[in-house]
Amino acid sequence: MFQPSPWRADFPAIAALQRQHQTYLDNAATTQKPQAVLDALSHYYGHGAANVHRAQHLPGALATQAFEDTRNKVAAWLNADPQQIIFTHGATSALNLLAYGLEQDFQAGDEIAVSALEHHANLLPWQQLARRRNARLVILPLDAHGRIDLEQALQLIGPRTRLLAVSQLSNVLGTWQPLPSLLAHARAQGALTVVDGAQGVVHGRHDLQQLECDFYVFSSHKLYGPDGVGVLYGRDRALQRLRHWQFGGEMVQIADYQASSFRPAPLGFEAGTPPIAGVIGLGATLEYLAKLDANAVAAHEASLHGYLLRGLSDREGIRVLGTPDTALASFVIEGVHNADIAHMLTEQGIAVRAGHHCAMPLLKRLDLDGAIRVSLALYNDSDDLQRFFDALDQGLELLR
Ligand code: PMP
Repeated sequence: MFQPSPWRADFPAIAALQRQHQTYLDNAATTQKPQAVLDALSHYYGHGAANVHRAQHLPGALATQAFEDTRNKVAAWLNADPQQIIFTHGATSALNLLAYGLEQDFQAGDEIAVSALEHHANLLPWQQLARRRNARLVILPLDAHGRIDLEQALQLIGPRTRLLAVSQLSNVLGTWQPLPSLLAHARAQGALTVVDGAQGVVHGRHDLQQLECDFYVFSSHKLYGPDGVGVLYGRDRALQRLRHWQFGGEMVQIADYQASSFRPAPLGFEAGTPPIAGVIGLGATLEYLAKLDANAVAAHEASLHGYLLRGLSDREGIRVLGTPDTALASFVIEGVHNADIAHMLTEQGIAVRAGHHCAMPLLKRLDLDGAIRVSLALYNDSDDLQRFFDALDQGLELLR
């Protein structure tokens, strides 16, 4: 039965893509934007751009106010304090900020625990930090479903663990990770905890007072907002441990030729001109999302996800990786290379992702050189998935 999306018409790009005969199912990579975001960007640029936190003139004051309004909205979205919200250029830049800003805390022999399913953005900065400080990267193994194996993880996270960095929701396997137990255990061992919320933030509201991590990062562009903007949330005592990393602009308190002092968070970690329009656009996204019925969105996504998983399991020779909980499914097809499947889906206007999904070590661990990933957003409907399955069936007939 046809399942429409009540929010589809809010996203003008979906109709535009359809006119180009494109069905967009690569939402874990980036999402389309609601009209409200296009309007906010157009309003900012159309009514007078200005730099923030530095000009006394009216356009500067208005830009600063809109920019800081978004900080308040992000804080409200995550149940945090605005002073705990640092704007970055994306989840990757937030994680790099952490890996440099916390570097002084690490000594030879210290351990950093990450899981086997991390996106490169939550692996490479820690790997490089470990190399700089002679620390050791400990890899937490997964269970058969594609979740961090709690029993083993609790054994591997011990008194030498200085930091635990894990994804909330896997961008390859679509599995929620067992964060409450993991974070509580790491905290009890005295470790700092970092949660990569790049995928998790898109599906459901997450209360950071309940999640109790020290740091949480996400990118605006996956949450229906503009690209070039990320968020780094930090608990107060964790932010106090963060050293300033990038220098210049309004992050300075007093500058002199030989020495300078710097502002605390958040402005002290926002060196240079921030992505002003993008931040304002993120504010519009959150305003848009806050008006939606969260239960209806969750039910819609769950229903489409069920349709996707059933369609995949109904077809012979398809193996879904792990046991996806939500939002996406990655799969391989017996006897057919993922690049060939991707090629034939592309030919038929189906936009899905193929390859290693920026998680090369995970794919290697699964003994694969790639997989196809279909990922959903709130504007997708069951026809999008039907077009995908029709294209898949047609293509497989030719390839097999
Ligand atoms: N972590 C995860 C789980 C992701 O899926 C992504 C984006 N694919 C990132 C981090 C990095 O996000 P960005 O490229 O926006 O910095």
